Amino acid sequence: MPSEALAKALARLEAELADLEARLEEERKALEALSPLPIYWRRVRCGKERCRKCPHGPYPYLKVKKGGRWRWKYLGKGWQPPEGFVRPREFLEALARYRALLRRREALLERLAEAERALS
Ligand SMILES: [Zn+2]
Repeated sequence: MPSEALAKALARLEAELADLEARLEEERKALEALSPLPIYWRRVRCGKERCRKCPHGPYPYLKVKKGGRWRWKYLGKGWQPPEGFVRPREFLEALARYRALLRRREALLERLAEAERALS
């Protein structure tokens, strides 16, 4: 691909990334509004060597007390809202959307890295 076309592709990917970031931010706000408990957004390292996408996330967590100690509870797949969540179904739907957006961003970051490598 000529470098001009590559630069254009890169710009398009960057615009798409900005759009995704905005939607992720919206979903984070929606999740916070539906949760009776504060949600903590944590970026985590996957531990893979030379991972270009680290840290990942941010992922949603709750702080829960277990055996007298505070622990992080990851709101991942299979997690069910406990009592107190007024619209648990809506919350789970927003959670699924958020996770799908995160996956899309990871894929996009990969394509961006490839385009940047090709340009340099
Ligand atoms: Zn990683």
